[in-house]
Amino acid sequence: MKIKAAVVREKGGSFQIEEVELDEPREDEVLVRIAGAGLCHTDLAAKDQLVPSPFPIVLGHEGAGIVEKTGKRVRKVKPGDHVVLSYVACGVCGPCRKGMEHICLNSFEYNFMGRRPDGSRTMKKGREAINGAFFGQSSFASFALANERNTVKVDDDVPIESLGPLGCGVQTGAGAVINALSPKPGSSLAVFGTGGVGMSAVMAGAVCGCTKIIAVDVKEARLKAARRFGATHVINPRKADPTKAILKITGEGVDYALDTTGITGVINQAVGALAAGGACGLIGISSPDARLETPIGTMMHGRSIFGIIEGNAVPDIFIPQMVELHKQGRFPVDRMITYYDLDRINEAVEDAESGRTLKAVLQP
Ligand SMILES: [Zn+2]
Ligand SMILES: [Zn+2]
Repeated sequence: MKIKAAVVREKGGSFQIEEVELDEPREDEVLVRIAGAGLCHTDLAAKDQLVPSPFPIVLGHEGAGIVEKTGKRVRKVKPGDHVVLSYVACGVCGPCRKGMEHICLNSFEYNFMGRRPDGSRTMKKGREAINGAFFGQSSFASFALANERNTVKVDDDVPIESLGPLGCGVQTGAGAVINALSPKPGSSLAVFGTGGVGMSAVMAGAVCGCTKIIAVDVKEARLKAARRFGATHVINPRKADPTKAILKITGEGVDYALDTTGITGVINQAVGALAAGGACGLIGISSPDARLETPIGTMMHGRSIFGIIEGNAVPDIFIPQMVELHKQGRFPVDRMITYYDLDRINEAVEDAESGRTLKAVLQP
């Protein structure tokens, strides 16, 4: 079928709206009419080749919409269902077999290579092959072809166009807190970097009952927003040393810290602010040669540092939970969103990069 899609043709190039042909769903695939797709940092990382996805490619990996058609073996959803699309895992490697699909060993192959796991492509334009199947979806388009495995059914009484970010960015930030750090009620949490991912972590801190939620960011507008999403304290590193400021707020250091920036210096600040027994989660994308240089002495007294991918979430379980919290008004993800027509995707990228929007959602 003919669809409208945002195609990237070269490293760092802009998105171009083009008409391309999308395959019919195979037995295990789901055709989704996209209502909204969130713009996530990873799309830009692929566009700018921090991850080596092939060109030309249709990106987009936070799609939400309505099922149009299903392959004959699909049982999870049916036409008309509201769905959020998430990441794909192989299901057979060691971590997948242990139920940890977020750290699937074949994750790169399955999510970034622009084709189905069997090597076939889902899109073309005349005779030209177009790379699709990005995160098993390529949802910067009017329609996306997903696999049953990364399609999550959600309640149809929440506006579906607002739920796409739950498939990656929001799941990454909120899951890091709820599933991985699992703070106890009454504990303290510091979130370094409060873009869409960090802001989701701030909201999750409030859901978990953290009584001190400290947002750290160099952008004042984001700090102001963080207070609305549950931050009890904010720190601008351009004005105060975050480690010292956190020690001052907490007395003995923070129980949980989360870095969303991937910047070594920021991670050091986060680790330096940990209380004895405290844990620091890393979810930012770092450059491949970045190294942690933490004195071993710091790690004594029970401190820990660990990486977290996709919020350690099982999307089929975690996404409906976030929708439920959202319905109860305890997780207002919709308030982070600025909507753009898909035609204005380059403007959305500019606004996301400048920090003018917290979370851009593209509507075809
Ligand atoms: Zn796997
Ligand atoms: Zn993402």
